[in-house]
Amino acid sequence: MPKALHAQVASIIKFSWVDGPGNRFVLFLQGCNLNCLACHNPQTIPLQTPRAAEMSVDDVLAQIRQAMPYISGITVSGGEATVQAGFVLELFKAIKSAKEFEGLTTFIDSNGNAPQEIWDQLAPYTDGVMLDLKALDDQKHIELTGSSNTAVLESIKYLDSIHKLYEVRLLLVPGHNDSDKQLIDTAVWLREIDPQMRIKINAFKTHGVRALAREWPEVSEEDLARYKEIVN
Ligand code: SF4
Repeated sequence: MPKALHAQVASIIKFSWVDGPGNRFVLFLQGCNLNCLACHNPQTIPLQTPRAAEMSVDDVLAQIRQAMPYISGITVSGGEATVQAGFVLELFKAIKSAKEFEGLTTFIDSNGNAPQEIWDQLAPYTDGVMLDLKALDDQKHIELTGSSNTAVLESIKYLDSIHKLYEVRLLLVPGHNDSDKQLIDTAVWLREIDPQMRIKINAFKTHGVRALAREWPEVSEEDLARYKEIVN
C-alpha cells in the first residue's frame, strides 16, 4: 500500500465508550468502498469533499496528546478506515514507537471490504479490528451495500486466524436482514470460525440515513430481544 502521511478526515471524537474497549479517541476517516442503503453517515462515503479536513500524522498525534490522560486507546473508523490504509499504517506505527503513547491500544473499525495484503501490513501495529457484517447471503449483501461480501467474509476468517478480530458487528434492519433463518445462519457461520466470537448487535435507526431508508422500520424492543436470543 502506498505510504501516506496525510489523510482526509471526516471528524474526530476525543472520548468515546462505544468504539472499542475502554475510553477511546476516535478518528473518522473520509471515504468508503461500500454504499450501504442503511448508512448513518452517507456524507463520509466520498473520499473527496469540502466537508473533510486534511490532516497529517503529526496533526492527529497532537490531538491524541491532548486526550492522552483520559484514553485507553485509538480507534480509526470511517467511512471505511482501510480506504486510507497507508495513513492508518503510518499513524499506528508512530503511536506504537513513541514512549509518550505507551499503553495506548490501536483499533480499526472496518466494513471488512479489504484484501488480505492490507491486513498483513496493518496487523503488526493493530491490536484489534471491529468488523461489520451487513449480510451473510451475498445477494442480500449486494442489495444492501452495492457490493459482494466475498472480501468481508475472507477478512473475518483471516483476522480471526491471526487473532486480530475483536468483534463482528451486525447492523440489523427489520425486514431486510433480520429473519430467524438469516440470524441463525450468520451466528452458526461465525461460531464455526470461532466458538468464542464476540458478536455485537447494532439496531437500525433512521437517524441520518438517506431518503429511501428513512421509510424503513426501526428495530423494536421485541426485535432486539429476539436477535439477542438467537445470536447469543
Ligand atoms: S460501510 Fe459504513 S460508512 Fe460505508 S457506506 Fe456502509 S454504513 Fe456507510
